[in-house]
Amino acid sequence: MHLQRLLSSLLLTLFIPVAGAAELKVLTSITPVQLIASEVLAGVSQPEVLLPPGASPHQYSLRPSDVRKVKQADLIFWIGPELERFLEKTLSKTDATVLSFLEEEEGHQHEGEAAHEDEHESPHHDSDENLLESSQEHDEHDHGGIDPHLWLDPVHALEMAEIIRDAAIKVAPNKQALLEQNYAEFAAALLEKDQLIMSQLAPFSDRGFVVFHDAYSRFVKHYNLKQLGAVTINPSRKAGAKHLSELREAVIQSKAVCIFSEPQFSGSILKTIASGTSVRTAELDPLGQKIKPEKGAYLAFLTDFAQVFEECLQD
Ligand SMILES: [Zn+2]
Repeated sequence: MHLQRLLSSLLLTLFIPVAGAAELKVLTSITPVQLIASEVLAGVSQPEVLLPPGASPHQYSLRPSDVRKVKQADLIFWIGPELERFLEKTLSKTDATVLSFLEEEEGHQHEGEAAHEDEHESPHHDSDENLLESSQEHDEHDHGGIDPHLWLDPVHALEMAEIIRDAAIKVAPNKQALLEQNYAEFAAALLEKDQLIMSQLAPFSDRGFVVFHDAYSRFVKHYNLKQLGAVTINPSRKAGAKHLSELREAVIQSKAVCIFSEPQFSGSILKTIASGTSVRTAELDPLGQKIKPEKGAYLAFLTDFAQVFEECLQD
């Protein structure tokens, strides 16, 4: 009797249509997207993430369980084929609503974006490019010079939140008020956090550093930092010996104060570059894979990120 009642109530929950149900199934490609989605979707949906901890979007293939997650989702958010190439085929075959942030942003890029990029043009920008990988290794990762790591610029993170809000309202119009409120709270908190970080990092604009892969250009530009170079443009390729010795020479010459490794990749190359110099090393996770996906998650990510920079770049 009890069991029967339980079963029938279970069945009822199963058959409530998506728009009326509490549970909207949202799937995100990588943790940063999940963190931003968690800010906007609080109380509406608990967004899942495909990429497991320790994995990099540059080197990943879908497992059967990932394909199942894609099939079950109502709404899917990803950056685009420039970053998560492994999703391209599967997403072209799903019935879910799929949104690519790069594609969405391209639409309204021309007015606002151009002005924004100019405004934040770093005085160090020219010298950055000299130390990046040579151009024949340039192909896949940076389509037309676009850095796909959008979330590392808070201005783009806010645009991503806006895209998530609008897509969720379309699929679950009964949650519109909550989604708008979440977004507004996120926007206000982010603006405040951004200004705090701006002054937190301002003293370090002349402290040079080297990163593992070329993921940080948007953060570097936004906060006017001095990135001297990256070991690799595309982490799925091995860096050339010549490039590494140039990078090591640059570290010595320009007295870089810090080299950042990433938890998704071995730090052995960075140790080679650092050996025999006084340069400091620190780990920087561009994917924020240790951050809990809940309200405040992206702000926590940005806070941690800025903290790692401050600690490694200071005297
Ligand atoms: Zn990357």
